[in-house]
Amino acid sequence: MVGSDANCLHMFESVLGAMNLGIVVLDDARSVVLWNRWMARHSGLPAQDVIGQDFFVLFSELNGKRIDGAVQQALRDNFPSVLSQTLHKAPFPLFATPAARLAGERLQQAVAVTPLQVAGAARHCLIQITDVSVAVHRERLLRDQALELRSQTFSDGLTGIANRRHFDVALEKEGRRAKRAATPLSLLMIDIDSFKAYNDSYGHQQGDDTLIKVAGALAAMLQRPLDLIARYGGEEFAVILPEMGAEQSEQLAQSMRQRITDMNLPHAGAPQHGRVTVSIGVATHAADSPLDLPCLIGAADRALYTAKHNGRNCVVVHPTAA
Ligand code: GH3
Ligand code: MG
Ligand code: MG
Repeated sequence: MVGSDANCLHMFESVLGAMNLGIVVLDDARSVVLWNRWMARHSGLPAQDVIGQDFFVLFSELNGKRIDGAVQQALRDNFPSVLSQTLHKAPFPLFATPAARLAGERLQQAVAVTPLQVAGAARHCLIQITDVSVAVHRERLLRDQALELRSQTFSDGLTGIANRRHFDVALEKEGRRAKRAATPLSLLMIDIDSFKAYNDSYGHQQGDDTLIKVAGALAAMLQRPLDLIARYGGEEFAVILPEMGAEQSEQLAQSMRQRITDMNLPHAGAPQHGRVTVSIGVATHAADSPLDLPCLIGAADRALYTAKHNGRNCVVVHPTAA
């Protein structure tokens, strides 16, 4: 319980000054009638420079913005608003420190605009501004960590391309899409030739480096956004090619095989070719046949097996649509 009116006013001013949020009150002509210490500190404008000024002249950049509409709604329609933090990150030029002001780094703000009934006067409006920089920073950190974890869950640790789990999910998804849209779907199975001998000749570490180079070169050849290359197993890659027919897939497979040959990575353990090569099996689900994903994988696998049997460094297309 506060005693006299004077005490009450003192107390009110102390509370306003100590508050850890910005408090602004505008009258019905949108002139500033109250500006607390928090606002002075973060805007660099002391109360005496601001009181009596038109708020939207002081902050002309806010003219026609969401805050302008919110103030109008409060004064005219007696309607409160909360400005979405995600849409309006830092509407006011408010800064944590002079250094932040120089760097142009505004406080992240949550803003609420509330109509105020003032005894004996036309309706006023209260603007409350909270500094949510810490929460926004924490949120960003959590989001980045979630993205990082997600990418670790779906990418291969050595080569950085999609992993087997990502492949399984993507193939299911593309399979459903192919069925629904009655479009073709092709699959390449790519295996590095004589890679055991490569490790035996150059060591496992260089084997790893070569895997990374081959994966990178193959991945760089995919142009369309839904094409996906994954590390399917040890030195084996799988490529999903939605909406691509047999002929085009064979051409792409040939270009990929040629690209690896052209890299000219020496491979003393492969006397036949003398450099690192790949064999590729191709299988296509034609648009007009029923789709069976295990069959499609089996067909690409068999084609790859035939490519190995035919002497490696070649492409074999499975003869029938899966
Ligand atoms: P083929 O031409 O028939 O494919 O012969 P290959 O020697 O490549 O086939 P095989 O499946 O017998 O051997 C695959 C080798 O790949 C065995 C393994 O040491 C090697 N390998 C698998 N994963 C990795 C890896 O992550 N790093 C390295 N350096 N080698 C790997
Ligand atoms: Mg191999
Ligand atoms: Mg293999």
